[in-house]
Amino acid sequence: MALTDNLLAGLRTLVGPENVLTTYEDLIPYSFDGTAVLQQMPGCVVFPKATAQVAAVLKLANRAKAAVVTRGSGTGLSGGSLPSPDCLLLCLVKIDRILELDRANLTMLVEAGATTQAISNAAAAAGLFYPPDPGSMKISTIGGNVAENSGGLRGLKYGVTRNYVMGLKVVLPDGEVLWTGNKCVKDVAGYSLRDLFIGSEGTLGVITRVLLKLIPKPAAKKTLVATFAQMDQAAQTVSDIIAAPIIPCTLEFLDRTTIRCVEDYAKIGLPLDCEALLLMETDGHPAVVEQEAMKMVEIARRNGCTEVRVAQDDAEATKLATARRTAFSALARVAPTTILEDATVPRSELAKMIRFIEGVAKKHKLRIGTFGHMGDGNLHPTCLTDERNLEEMHRVEEAFREIFDETIRLGGTITGEHGIGVAKKAFLPKFAGDAQMRVMRELRRILDPNGILNPGKLMDASVTTGV
Ligand SMILES: Cc1cc2nc3c(=O)[nH]c(=O)nc-3n(C[C@H](O)[C@H](O)[C@H](O)COP(=O)(O)OP(=O)(O)OC[C@H]3O[C@@H](n4cnc5c(N)ncnc54)[C@H](O)[C@@H]3O)c2cc1C
Repeated sequence: MALTDNLLAGLRTLVGPENVLTTYEDLIPYSFDGTAVLQQMPGCVVFPKATAQVAAVLKLANRAKAAVVTRGSGTGLSGGSLPSPDCLLLCLVKIDRILELDRANLTMLVEAGATTQAISNAAAAAGLFYPPDPGSMKISTIGGNVAENSGGLRGLKYGVTRNYVMGLKVVLPDGEVLWTGNKCVKDVAGYSLRDLFIGSEGTLGVITRVLLKLIPKPAAKKTLVATFAQMDQAAQTVSDIIAAPIIPCTLEFLDRTTIRCVEDYAKIGLPLDCEALLLMETDGHPAVVEQEAMKMVEIARRNGCTEVRVAQDDAEATKLATARRTAFSALARVAPTTILEDATVPRSELAKMIRFIEGVAKKHKLRIGTFGHMGDGNLHPTCLTDERNLEEMHRVEEAFREIFDETIRLGGTITGEHGIGVAKKAFLPKFAGDAQMRVMRELRRILDPNGILNPGKLMDASVTTGV
């Protein structure tokens, strides 16, 4: 349903006419997020500048039963901030201040539109550390990170966004403002509503402030890259490192297709005749870091790596880490459409899953490069295709259906960090089952009885799974 002139006039009064976009040309950049193939025009884009304005906008939209899609920077990879037709797109990037850094409590209070990089920089400037580092951190917002419960390269040792959220200010769909959480390290008073909003993908409320936990900055770090002629050698190396027991801050993987694309793009000098590459980083006390790095070299060699390089200084470490950090961009150059997926399995099933993805690519005659967070079991099979080729797109769809069926069969999850959005909606009932789907639907209905927030995302309002 198109937004009415009355509603648009009301929005202009609330946030100022300069903060409401309605022309076709202005709306185009907000008609998609980072997810391939999906595009939909919103009815308008609104830029609030304070929580009170978000509350007033939601009150107005709720009264008019107008669809509202919240957006941070639009880097999401499951279509979470893709507009629903003619919706009000609420873009939070102008609410982006870092409000407080509390050294005594090791917390930082930020507004939802602050970028992850700005938060990381502010923590580092105070000699502290905010670990979550999604590959998109230069532009992704903390609101988007919380709404997706984003991970990053350091997830294995330091956890994901959820592990650093101590409090949230959330505007509910009817405009009521709720604060959940505080600076206490321990707090078991009532249900943890904070955890309900983390990962809720803009379907339960609009986050406007986040209270984050900070930790001391590790004193030292060492970066290593090992290459392997066979995938199983890399998988065994990961298992042996964890069993050692060493928990590196980074344990990332690239397959042959990705290594070739990265080398072509970044010219790092990676060997092209290998089947797998592992990027390994350890951080902490200098003596422990030295010891762990030596042990990881030994484990990689014991498993028959063709080469292992240890960075001698920060510049070399950055160069080696580039191999992983540029993986998505390097693959994206190869074909007009890049479909990046997010299959996650228990670590013990990694080699099996990687082989399965290779088999599926061969069977459907597709180019799929796989990279990802090997230490977390979180793989990103990435299909290099062309959305204009409908016959090939049909094969892509079939291939990913088989990949996700196998992921579930191996005890894995259909998304480790990118969320459900619209891209995975069809797989959620099979993964979650009837009882979870019913509880999630009822929670959503209680918080948003008019169904205005991110309609059509994550789940349909009344569908049984039939599983
Ligand atoms: C190159 C690249 C690398 C990436 N690497 C990673 C990675 O390593 N790890 C990872 O987890 N993800 C990664 N992503 C995915 C993406 O960057 C994350 O999901 C990120 O958290 C999205 O932030 P955003 O500000 O762009 O949110 P958007 O894309 O704008 O929104 C994402 C979702 O959050 C909701 N939302 C946004 N802001 C709010 C708010 N204030 N209140 C309530 N809901 C809100 C939206 O409605 C939507 O459902 C990557 C993406 C790209 C393009």
